[in-house]
Amino acid sequence: MELLIRNLSKTYSNGVKALQDVSLTIQPGMFGLLGPNGAGKSTLMRTLATLQEPDSGEVFLGQINLLTQKDEIRRTLGYLPQEFGVYPRVSAEMLLDHLAVLKGITDKGERKTLVEALLNRTNLWQHRKKNLGGYSGGMRQRFGIAQALIASPKLIIVDEPTAGLDPAERNRFHNLLSELGENAVVILSTHIVDDVKELCTDMAIINGGKILMNGHPLQAIDQLKGRVWRKRVPKDELEAYKQNFNVISDKMVAGQPLIHVLSESQPDATFDAVEPELENVYFSHILGIKTHA
Ligand code: ADP
Repeated sequence: MELLIRNLSKTYSNGVKALQDVSLTIQPGMFGLLGPNGAGKSTLMRTLATLQEPDSGEVFLGQINLLTQKDEIRRTLGYLPQEFGVYPRVSAEMLLDHLAVLKGITDKGERKTLVEALLNRTNLWQHRKKNLGGYSGGMRQRFGIAQALIASPKLIIVDEPTAGLDPAERNRFHNLLSELGENAVVILSTHIVDDVKELCTDMAIINGGKILMNGHPLQAIDQLKGRVWRKRVPKDELEAYKQNFNVISDKMVAGQPLIHVLSESQPDATFDAVEPELENVYFSHILGIKTHA
């Protein structure tokens, strides 16, 4: 079942254009929506989760009209929001059971089997009696996945999931997420390039409410082959380099700026060729630098 987003726009009452004519076709699997803070990601995620209305546009999940058939969509939707507010004095087992009732699973036996399966799948079985207030960040995120999976969703929305997770928790979370993509459209919204690089077969870059790029991460990286160059530059010359070259990133390495430049040919003999990475794709689009030859 594919997700079809057509010409979605949203302007908030303060005049901010959070979505501007956004169109995307998303197949089952993991789709990465990558953009800096304020790009419009959460606005799009909340719209897809039926929590807010766009001003115009259409969204279909298979035959279901997401904007008009909200009840039908909600039955097949899993949403893992940025801030997962939990009830601190309730155990994971009890809250999952309660949420399953809300999703319409009224049979007690069926619920028990489902809740057990979800707790096992997210590795929370041994913590099932513990109050959620005592969970670590990683455990909370895994609980978020467990609740998003009630009712075997066909559309799963995951908003900025790995902020604040340590590397081991992040790995575990990634493994869980990639299992989900086998049967559903999973949209992962993030500002972390590596999350998309590691998980997603398809992606879009959004900024200022507009889709700047939509495609396969590996193909996008391939398009930059032979066109990314790097050089260590003196700190006080950094600005001049930015004026004169297509600088797509600068970071400090051992106290000195290392710049990456996008150029069809070697800018001069002092630049070294580098293998492009998804981060280079991301910054070229965010900075509005032409990436096609
Ligand atoms: P992201 O999730 O990529 O950080 P958001 O969708 O949260 O982006 O925000 C997009 C833009 O819309 C930002 O400029 C933000 O300040 C603005 N915005 C978000 N929510 C509201 C709101 N409820 N009212 C007014 N402006 C908002």
